[in-house]
Amino acid sequence: MSLADQYRRTGRLEGACLCGAVRIAVDGAHVAAVGVCHCSMCQRSSGLVWGAFEAAADAVTISGAVTRYASTPFSERAFCPVCGSNLWLRNTDRDDADYELMPALFPAARAFPLISEIYTDRAPAYVPLSGDHRRATRAEYEANNLHLEGDMP
Ligand SMILES: [Zn+2]
Ligand SMILES: [Zn+2]
Repeated sequence: MSLADQYRRTGRLEGACLCGAVRIAVDGAHVAAVGVCHCSMCQRSSGLVWGAFEAAADAVTISGAVTRYASTPFSERAFCPVCGSNLWLRNTDRDDADYELMPALFPAARAFPLISEIYTDRAPAYVPLSGDHRRATRAEYEANNLHLEGDMP
């Protein structure tokens, strides 16, 4: 059982970007907990600290126009073209890949705990995250997961 398993839920969450042009409904399987990544792409993309929760592709309904940026050959980052709010990161190597949705779009996600933090050795000094969540350095994460070579601070 992975750490996320105890936070697996089904049910409905409603989210929206800053301007409201994009609305995201989750109705089905998701993980009611947040993981943070400090890789260089996530830092630049977020502007501060990047975190997300997972939702099954068939549970997610998007309304409104979105812009997708292929940040790696196997993943995209989506944002609202009107207000710039980050929406998700998603692998593009399979059609049924989970969405990694930005928690702050969803009022209900304010209660989600932080359960993992990766690229901890790349974390900037200004966002120390306390707690007993699972942590992995760049080397520990890349040993077991798809990644882009050459992440630089
Ligand atoms: Zn917007
Ligand atoms: Zn990252």
